[in-house]
Amino acid sequence: QCVMVCPTAALTEVYHTDKVWEAINDPDKHVIVQTAPAVRVALGELFGMEAGTVVTGKMVTALKRMGFDEVFDTDFGADLTIMEEASELIYRLKNNKTLPILTNCCPAWVKFIEHQFPELIHVPSTCKSPHIMFGTIAKTYYAEKNGLDPDNIVVVSVMPCIAKKAEAKRPELTKDAHNNVDIVITTRELGAMIKEAGIEFVKLPDSEFDSPLGESTGASVIFGTAGGVIEAALRTASEWMTGKPLDRVEFEELRGMEGVRRATVKIGDQELKIGIASGLGNARHILEDIRDGRADYHAIEIMACPGGCIAGGGQPYHHGNHEIIKKRREAIYEEDRRKKVRKSHENKEILELYKNYLGEPFGKLAHELLHTHFEERERI
Ligand code: SF4
Repeated sequence: QCVMVCPTAALTEVYHTDKVWEAINDPDKHVIVQTAPAVRVALGELFGMEAGTVVTGKMVTALKRMGFDEVFDTDFGADLTIMEEASELIYRLKNNKTLPILTNCCPAWVKFIEHQFPELIHVPSTCKSPHIMFGTIAKTYYAEKNGLDPDNIVVVSVMPCIAKKAEAKRPELTKDAHNNVDIVITTRELGAMIKEAGIEFVKLPDSEFDSPLGESTGASVIFGTAGGVIEAALRTASEWMTGKPLDRVEFEELRGMEGVRRATVKIGDQELKIGIASGLGNARHILEDIRDGRADYHAIEIMACPGGCIAGGGQPYHHGNHEIIKKRREAIYEEDRRKKVRKSHENKEILELYKNYLGEPFGKLAHELLHTHFEERERI
């Protein structure tokens, strides 16, 4: 079993592809797969395609041919994360509760704060990460809707990340066995499985994700690059705080390749100070500033991998070539621009999920199912 948290693949990972084939070949199991935003802009590289080629449709076709019962999208989980995280940001702002709020989609950085800054453990958002939220909804709402026994559902996550393997095994996320992700594989492992299945990836036609956990917005796609999570959260928080549609959906001031970025975003009469750090060395500087009272941010996004998940440790190797990262990043923003709906709170399937099952965002059931806690751990 792989329990590593290395975000940069400096250590050798253990493949879990056999477990996935075993589940697919078990007639008693209902096996569903979800794919993270960054996977679709890098998977093609494993089949000789140009970096930054968007292969979403081919990837869905390949997963269907491999035998998954349903092919869904972690982007749905990302939109759900934004519903909760934007609500949490507004709650903290209105009630003068702990600020800044730190996004916590990245399990490597969460582990880092637990060990290195235990005194700041109350600061991250309590939202589960998108693929874990997805796993929870798959084994509750989706299971009920389809008359399935959650114990017979196997959720497979395809991630750009090795740390997600360890995240899915965290005790607070696995205490309820039918409430989580079962197997995590990386982009590289998915590439290996497509090759094992003898599928000619480049020649595949496109297919659409299945419903109801496959609909997503442009806001969720940009989770794949540094700065994207906080931009997605602000698209929703802005409209909720002002009650008015955004004049511009793209927050250019939050975008860039620098390891640390600071920006002020005006929402109505309020000016929100935003920080973005990618790479743990940069995260350390920002966290030291917060701990020592030198920073007055309202919200911060931290990603362990420089550039975010597009450069994750489970992606095709980029050997430090920044051009590759740049192309993947451009592809992510292009996907966002192509989407008809670009704000998480306008995702129809998400709205249906709240209406028919969860109730209010940040409400009682949402808290029970979609939020978690972190532990102070020994300094290492
Ligand atoms: Fe994983 Fe993304 Fe964090 Fe890298 S930035 S460790 S790929 S979640």
